[in-house]
Amino acid sequence: MKTIYFDNNATTKVAEEVLQEMKPFFCELYGNPSSMHTFGGQVAHSIRRAREQVAALLGCDPTEIIFTSCGTESDNAAIKGTLAAYPNRRKVITIRVEHPAVLTVCRELKNHGYTIVELAVDKQGRLDLAELEDNLNDDTAIVSIMYANNETGVVFPIAQIAEMVTEKGIVFHTDAVQVVGKIPLNLARSNIDLLSLSAHKLHGPKGVGVLYVKKGTRLSPFMLGGHQEAGRRAGTENVPGIVGLGKACELAGKNIDAENKKVKYLRDKLENAVLKSCPDSRLNGDKDNRLPNTTNISFEFIEGEAILLMLDKFGICASSGSACTSGSLEPSHVLRAMGVPFTAAHGSIRFSLSRYNTEEEVDFTIKKLPPIIEKLRKLSPFVAK
Ligand code: PLP
Repeated sequence: MKTIYFDNNATTKVAEEVLQEMKPFFCELYGNPSSMHTFGGQVAHSIRRAREQVAALLGCDPTEIIFTSCGTESDNAAIKGTLAAYPNRRKVITIRVEHPAVLTVCRELKNHGYTIVELAVDKQGRLDLAELEDNLNDDTAIVSIMYANNETGVVFPIAQIAEMVTEKGIVFHTDAVQVVGKIPLNLARSNIDLLSLSAHKLHGPKGVGVLYVKKGTRLSPFMLGGHQEAGRRAGTENVPGIVGLGKACELAGKNIDAENKKVKYLRDKLENAVLKSCPDSRLNGDKDNRLPNTTNISFEFIEGEAILLMLDKFGICASSGSACTSGSLEPSHVLRAMGVPFTAAHGSIRFSLSRYNTEEEVDFTIKKLPPIIEKLRKLSPFVAK
């Protein structure tokens, strides 16, 4: 059975070109980039090139790139590194729909006496900028607001937010893990101080990420040890991963417009057909300000997991909004924060597409999904018979 992969916000396929670029760094060019010999020096050169490729996609200087092990590490390093650099400031502002890589860090900081403000979002998943402004004060060390939400794809007005926050002398961090490669960025012309990304979300390998640190931003290192990354992140570099990320950024930069157009067309076709053919279905999140590849649809009165299992029988991979993977039956914290009713939040499915999806795959899914929904509704104890 062919796999139809609509779970690209969870992770993406490594591009063939990326894999080819990485291969020599396992068994041929395996030197340590910190070594004095020429053999290691070649590797250091490849890391420099990857840094330039990442910087070109982000529109920043290569010296502003710190390689990390993943998006989660970048988020942790941004928040904890800023608090360590500003020991007299004790307040952190974030939003309720953040990824756990930010939210869990903030909630843990509460146990260490920090004041954490988690701003609410409206029914469409949007932020009230006036409320953010009211919460900024001299005690605020950092504001961390994601660029786009991983479950709904809702994009936040980051340029406006970054300006508002940094104007007050507060550090602004954004988790752009779902954005890099999908939305063009020009960080040199932005007020963003810190930005996180992760290679495996843009057809690069797992286990490598970046923390962008704008020149002049105060940040204490999160990982201590050797002198790698100019003393800002210790640990021998994941060379194949870094080289792969560089190539993934180069590919993303080349194709961003054409890919967005194709992916958005497929996403819209899937979304419109599903909403039309499945009664009691609804779109979650701001329809107009979304990533081009993401749709999050609730099917009232049925369980998302049951839908996923039935889609899986046809080789279709999507994801549900509930946190069942963590062993909890709680529906997604994102949808609950948006006030999506319990019965709808439980039956939510996220389809996230990539450049590798085809129209045939979308057409196949459009055919298979409505009968699944109908069958599950017949079995549901919540539907009025
Ligand atoms: N932030 C967001 C918005 C994400 O979607 C993810 C992964 O799903 C992460 C952070 C964590 O990234 P990583 O898997 O590289 O740790």
